[in-house]
Amino acid sequence: MNEPNEKTYDIVDSDGNLVEKADKVDSEEKQLTSGDVKNLHKLYTTVRLPVVLACKHRLDLHEQPRHRNCEHCWFAWFNQHGEIVKQLDEMHADGQDAVIVQLQGKKFLHRWKQFMSTIARWKEENEKTQVDTPEAS
Ligand SMILES: [Zn+2]
Repeated sequence: MNEPNEKTYDIVDSDGNLVEKADKVDSEEKQLTSGDVKNLHKLYTTVRLPVVLACKHRLDLHEQPRHRNCEHCWFAWFNQHGEIVKQLDEMHADGQDAVIVQLQGKKFLHRWKQFMSTIARWKEENEKTQVDTPEAS
């Protein structure tokens, strides 16, 4: 006899940390109830997307941000794609903006430029701060 509350799988949180260990399941085959199937289906098909803290939007890193006009999403997206940013930088320096637009669209290029200027501004401010606050000796 199986206990109705028996857990057949480990419960993990969105970071993959173990929350609750599965109960020991004996080798005899279990009859899945429709509720079990539903749970399993959810467990394997729900893609947990990271949430951008600034705007609470979910971000799929495999495609361009869904919230096209959300600068936070774009910033987080570019921030996670160092290789793409580097490549864009090279293409831009090569005068290939038109190619970027052709491949990814006008908005993409525009958002990338915003990202780069934000980064540049941060760097500047960072350097300024370091000059202004000499290390205590
Ligand atoms: Zn957003």
